[in-house]
Amino acid sequence: MKTFGNFLKTLFLCLSLGLIISCNTKESKIITVSGEIPASEIGKTLHHEHLLVDFIGADSTGYHRWDKNEVVEKVLPYLLEIKKLGYKTLVECTPAYLGRDPELLKILVEKSGVQIITNTGYYSAVGAKFIPKHGFTETAEQLAERWIAEAKNGIEDSGVYPGFIKIAVERNPLEEINRKVVKAAAITHKETGLIIMSHTGLAIPAFQQLDILKEHGVHPSAFIWTHAHNEQDFNKHIEAAKMGTWIAFDNFKPDRLERYVEFALLMKKEGMLNKVLFSHDAGWYKPGEIDGGNFRGFTEIEELLIPALEKNGLSQHDIYQLFVANPAEAFKVKIRLTQI
Ligand SMILES: [Zn+2]
Repeated sequence: MKTFGNFLKTLFLCLSLGLIISCNTKESKIITVSGEIPASEIGKTLHHEHLLVDFIGADSTGYHRWDKNEVVEKVLPYLLEIKKLGYKTLVECTPAYLGRDPELLKILVEKSGVQIITNTGYYSAVGAKFIPKHGFTETAEQLAERWIAEAKNGIEDSGVYPGFIKIAVERNPLEEINRKVVKAAAITHKETGLIIMSHTGLAIPAFQQLDILKEHGVHPSAFIWTHAHNEQDFNKHIEAAKMGTWIAFDNFKPDRLERYVEFALLMKKEGMLNKVLFSHDAGWYKPGEIDGGNFRGFTEIEELLIPALEKNGLSQHDIYQLFVANPAEAFKVKIRLTQI
């Protein structure tokens, strides 16, 4: 009996060791426009930018609104510019009905060699102008079904798969349509493991969304509080980060340098630098404007923010954390639940 007990013990040990090893060797993946990559290959990343945004509204937008060749001609130099600076990945945050174009992104990836990540989901801010008709009549479950289908089968027939869920809510207390897209995002996350990036701004709607996720068993680490720099109270950022939420100061501009540095130093002091994401929210070829209008490039973080962070005491390890390790962790496919 004792021998059998020992045998069982040994068997259990082997099985658990095997499990640990297989868990460790099975590397997490990230889904880019050109396919899956190991999370370790994301490299230096700008986690929130846009290549093209069409503001005309869900009822009028479509691929007929821009000429892909003209967009490529305008946008490609900006991608080559960041590639030269060592950036390997750009996350394109334009959702469907606002100018998402997987075929265009494929061309830009091929020509630039920069990895691009695109999304599924709907943008319900700005009076729901960018929500398609079916978005108003369908339930959260039905919307989630559409988004999950994109994650499983690709976007239309492009062969491109979304690497995250992009939603947007109004800046103040959530409205019905906002709650619906958040719920749809929670359902989609549980099915796909894609992270939820939500255009949010202030703390009130941020915490309201975290509550909805919680109701559906989704952990705050599945949520990027987008445009968090609009919230003035750093205590709210710390509170959300301590819950596991990603805090995105994603609209870096030269006149915001001091505040972004102050925020980074505070988060480092709090031991929360592993929850911070920086980006420009720049770009924006705008269909309908001459030559796509004014295009804002993606280099100010490299030219201004990173040197300022270093000057204020952030180490190379910290910089790696912010621009490589954090995006790798945030965008890896992983179902994050409140209970394990
Ligand atoms: Zn944006």
